[in-house]
Amino acid sequence: MKLSRKRFLQLSGSSVLGFSLFNSLAGCGSKEAHQKITGTGDIMIEVKTKKLNLAHTWTISRNSSDFKNNVFVKIERNGIIGYGEAAPNVRYGEDYQKTTKRINEAKKIFEQNNLFHFVDIKEELDQTILDQSCAKAALDIALMDWIGKAFNLPLYKLWGLNIAKSPVTSYSIGIDTVEVIKQKVREAEPYPILKIKVGTDRDREIINAVRSVTDKPIRVDANEGWKNKEEALEKIKWLKDQGVEFIEQPMPAHMLDETAWLRDKVDMPIIADEAVKTAADIPNLAQAYDGINIKLMKSGGLQEALRMIGMAKSLGMKIMLGCMIESSVAISAAAHLTPFVDYADLDGNLLITNDPFSGVKVDHGKFVFNNKPGLGVEGEF
Ligand SMILES: [Mg+2]
Repeated sequence: MKLSRKRFLQLSGSSVLGFSLFNSLAGCGSKEAHQKITGTGDIMIEVKTKKLNLAHTWTISRNSSDFKNNVFVKIERNGIIGYGEAAPNVRYGEDYQKTTKRINEAKKIFEQNNLFHFVDIKEELDQTILDQSCAKAALDIALMDWIGKAFNLPLYKLWGLNIAKSPVTSYSIGIDTVEVIKQKVREAEPYPILKIKVGTDRDREIINAVRSVTDKPIRVDANEGWKNKEEALEKIKWLKDQGVEFIEQPMPAHMLDETAWLRDKVDMPIIADEAVKTAADIPNLAQAYDGINIKLMKSGGLQEALRMIGMAKSLGMKIMLGCMIESSVAISAAAHLTPFVDYADLDGNLLITNDPFSGVKVDHGKFVFNNKPGLGVEGEF
């Protein structure tokens, strides 16, 4: 397409204006300010625990909770602030005290490195934080928020992604009584796809309750709740008849052979969640699972999630992007990766009543990005 000179000037004029306006809003528009973004110098790293309250008691096959203690990180260098968040999960031996300790131990990595060398920082974090992967996630998310702000670009733009390709997010319904499940499904009216927690001896009752009030597409997560392959086979065949799209982690993570046996006998994709944390886990899972559920808290952040996406794609596996109970900080971080994936399940911030931040929003399941640099989050640290 050839542009007329007039049209070219209009377009270039508006983009220059748009860019300079955006720069000045971000507070780093002048040449002088940009020269100060060296990635080195004085650094301030703060760590805080915040109690996130759940709207409904959150029950899955393993446990129940009314609130979560998540750990927030703020990294400030060259006048730019990056925010991160850890959601410690008991399934992986994590808690907020140990997570805070690991973050404090890793501060020196940031003090000693240029933040623009974020690949080097990730490698040092991998060598330093050997448990509490969520602590690594908090630091990597804060680092990438800082990087996005330093380049004055939302992360999805930095990665060359088209957000029109993001799948809609599902909305999760935890285990509950029949009446409460029906109520939750009614409250989830704006969301086009539901994810239903099962893995109990009441699974049929739960799905029947959901189906009594909606015919929406549903996905099911057993959270390792079915302990033998025959039970899993029987339940998946029944779920197929209820219009279930896929099943997540039907059996315990260590039951790889049983899951491979199951996969041969069912006509429904099986997605690994608890069985996969980082890219190194993926090749071995390809024999038993059709896809993987990537969560920043398991992977240890955005950079490892990108590696996992590359690995899963090269093996022809489906990719889902999931979350823990998280605020808008970690949810927004994951949302920037959604153009890469087949399924999104990023509803952690929608299940809490006191989100301290706002960022990427959800409208009828669709992500709404705000074009602010980095994660695009704002709020009270
Ligand atoms: Mg899951």
